[in-house]
Amino acid sequence: MCEEDFLTLHPDYPGVKVVDANVIIHGRGLNGKLVTVPEVLEELKSGQAKTSLSSFNVETRQCSERNFEKVKEKSSEILSETSQVDEKLLALALDLDCSLITDDKGLQNLALHFGVEVEGFMDSVTDKKMSWKLVCPSCGKSSCSCGVDRVRKLDQCNPV
Ligand SMILES: [Zn+2]
Repeated sequence: MCEEDFLTLHPDYPGVKVVDANVIIHGRGLNGKLVTVPEVLEELKSGQAKTSLSSFNVETRQCSERNFEKVKEKSSEILSETSQVDEKLLALALDLDCSLITDDKGLQNLALHFGVEVEGFMDSVTDKKMSWKLVCPSCGKSSCSCGVDRVRKLDQCNPV
């Protein structure tokens, strides 16, 4: 389904929000149009959340390959520890130019790098934009000849 088809089928497209699995499990009573990627529902269907799923109105839509690539690229650049499904959710929020509801701090952080509006669900939203780099635990440099495995270290942490 192309972008135009989606807009035609979803006239109430403005105001849509992308939600993660946690929001779907606990989000009864949330208003508005909610959308997620198919992988999230597949995960939930194999779990214990069947009852809440049936009483919860959430649509699924696959994210675009283009934005998924962009998100994956940024994720590797900042050494984000987000999962592939998380990154698809963010790509979908970029596709739809809408906000993302999640309590996952890693996903919130990655979303901040794209300027995507993030809403917390049961918890507040992170107020720092962080990125990491790999350094040698012995000398602290990114590249050296110490011969030990590099470790992930906080590189930048800025208030948003
Ligand atoms: Zn070193």
